[in-house]
Amino acid sequence: MSEGCKTIGVLTSGGDAPGMNAAVRAVVRTATAKGMEVKGIRRGYAGLLDEDIVDMPPVSVSDIIHRGGTILYTARCREMFQPEVQDHAAEICRKHGIEGLVIIGGDGSFRGAGALAERGINTIGVPGTIDLDIACTDYTIGFDTAINTAMEAIDKIRDTSTSHERVSIVEVMGRQAGYIAMWCAIANGAEDMLLPEMYDHDEQALIDRIIEKRRKGKKHHIIINAEGIGHSVSMAARIEAATGIETRATILGHMQRGGTPTCKDRVYASIMGAKAVELLQEGKSKRIVAYRGGAFVDYDIQEALHMQKSLPEDYIRISKSLIR
Ligand code: ATP
Repeated sequence: MSEGCKTIGVLTSGGDAPGMNAAVRAVVRTATAKGMEVKGIRRGYAGLLDEDIVDMPPVSVSDIIHRGGTILYTARCREMFQPEVQDHAAEICRKHGIEGLVIIGGDGSFRGAGALAERGINTIGVPGTIDLDIACTDYTIGFDTAINTAMEAIDKIRDTSTSHERVSIVEVMGRQAGYIAMWCAIANGAEDMLLPEMYDHDEQALIDRIIEKRRKGKKHHIIINAEGIGHSVSMAARIEAATGIETRATILGHMQRGGTPTCKDRVYASIMGAKAVELLQEGKSKRIVAYRGGAFVDYDIQEALHMQKSLPEDYIRISKSLIR
């Protein structure tokens, strides 16, 4: 897209995340303030292929900044993996006059953005996922809300766990990434955390720790288990059988995706959405907006997709040292 672009599109893709609406609003308001028209593409790439495309004047994003979910809906769309479908998607963009596209989602969505950029559509990715598992950025839209939602739920579980002197396994989201589990383990003062990146499958050691802590007078034992490890219910049954202590599993599930976004998610998502439009206006394409080292920056999509991210060593070390 050259400078002076007339029309851009915006879509949300992959798992929804609280704060996506703030990003959509920022895209619409920033672009329209610059004289561009904005088209909202509903249900991610699936909606693009179905040409489920609506005009988004500034008023279309009124009253959404505080709402969870995404007003554009989201979807996963396997067809987008096929090169000929990617050709068709780019054609649809051209048919609707969409010269630039803001794609709010995770790594998979950015791969789709890369494919469209290769086909002449200027694309900018905005990181939206509650899992924080995008390597190029220290912040992703929705993570802050998700950890606060999970933290509040775990506080409540702790109350009843202590009253009944139980062991509680709380399963939080994170199939491949343990960021939510790790943050909650620290914030909730959990006795154990099981993270996909470093799970040792040593259930006997876990049982021994529970027995040892009970011997020292602990009234509860909260285990934060990441979704990627799973099996919380059967794990609870085995722990109860081995320790003789009542053990219950709670799977927090999709509640972690919903709810009103935190202040941080609203503000950062707004800045990222606005930055994406600024990049398009500068004629940039195939970039991802990121927050790194305390600043909003942007990376080439392919470079960003090749970056690696691991759980911060000091968080792990310190969280373990705080459990007594
Ligand atoms: P989340 O982190 O919430 O899972 P995500 O964006 O990584 O978000 P995916 O399901 O991996 O979620 O991808 C979303 C969509 O992006 C896919 O359904 C598909 O339409 C598109 N996509 C994913 N990978 C590719 C790819 N390699 N090429 C083209 N499109 C892709």
